[in-house]
Amino acid sequence: MAEQNDPIAFIDLKAQQGPIRDRIDAAIARVLDHGHYIMGPEVGAFEEQLASFCGAAHAISCSSGTDALMMVLMAKGIGPGDAVICPSFTFPASPEVIAILGATPVFADVEEDSFNLDPQSLKGAVAAAKAAGLTPKGILAVDLFGLPADYDAIERFAAAEDLWVLADSAQSCGAAYKGRKVGTMGIATATSFFPAKPLGCYGDGGAIMTNDAALAGDLKSIRVHGKGTDKYDNVRVGINGRLDTLQAAILIEKLRIFSDELQARDRAAQVYNGALRDIDGIVVPKLPEASSSAWAQYTIRVKDGRRDELKAALAAAGIPTAVYYPKTLHRQKAYSQFPMSETGVLVSERLANEVLSLPMHPYLEAAVQERIAAEIAKAL
Ligand SMILES: *Cc1c(COP(=O)(O)O)cnc(C)c1O
Repeated sequence: MAEQNDPIAFIDLKAQQGPIRDRIDAAIARVLDHGHYIMGPEVGAFEEQLASFCGAAHAISCSSGTDALMMVLMAKGIGPGDAVICPSFTFPASPEVIAILGATPVFADVEEDSFNLDPQSLKGAVAAAKAAGLTPKGILAVDLFGLPADYDAIERFAAAEDLWVLADSAQSCGAAYKGRKVGTMGIATATSFFPAKPLGCYGDGGAIMTNDAALAGDLKSIRVHGKGTDKYDNVRVGINGRLDTLQAAILIEKLRIFSDELQARDRAAQVYNGALRDIDGIVVPKLPEASSSAWAQYTIRVKDGRRDELKAALAAAGIPTAVYYPKTLHRQKAYSQFPMSETGVLVSERLANEVLSLPMHPYLEAAVQERIAAEIAKAL
């Protein structure tokens, strides 16, 4: 049990490591013994386990969540003159991979309840892309804070406009949407194993899940410099996008406990919901019917312009919080020149001023959460 005055961790990777440390040490030792550091046997083994966990036909591991997204865009041949729609309220990796390939990110708005792409905003984004002389090619939907976006509506719109959908599920590995597991959305689902993500390794890592065998083959080629029959047969321009064997070995051990951890995250979210829902001035996260979240973050909205004041009060009480994200992407220097939906991104703007993420991890104790809730009530 945590003591009353123990420091509170925002994400507690140490508490997670304790019970599985011996298994991780042994897994690392096995890699050091066999010495296949690049594409060793653990890589393929992990990919099979991940595909089966996600209910996808193929899982292609790779070097990061960012590379996972970029590799899919490379496989789709995205480049100059193409537009890909993504939300303005997300992590910069989402538009970055579009822009780095010479294509144009077009920003759409999000819904205030889910923090995710608003299907109503897509029409205005397609119109903005066309008005800028671009060819809309796809939609990069993001599952922010662990909750899957509204894929039925997004895929319906995409089908009508002849666009593909790529899921940025860096934060939502392990969640589900209307009975579909994350990993089965759109043409492909990209995820990240950055240490702080729900399924994290001890370095950088990522994966792409897809049911499309041809796409899976292209991604495996792109991952190793566009290889054909072997590494020195280059059939396309690729990258070095491999996941280290050591990280795959660690992920195999993390995946064993992941289902239990997802349940623990869900319990922690319920405790927060119960403790916070009646406090005036904040809005607790709400899950749509038939969806589950991986609870990468537990993010409240603080009304009346009091977010920064609450953050400071919690910091003074020893409670770490984070603002994901303080600035919408279309206001960032790197992205301000790109088009946005003709219907604007007003909700994104508002959320950037309201969101506050509270400590969240599977080992969070209810007593600590009650203390956090009490401090929030006191501060407001
Ligand atoms: C973390 C994250 C990424 C990038 O993942 P990395 O593994 O850090 O490259 C992409 N999109 C979103 C929404 C993320 O949260």
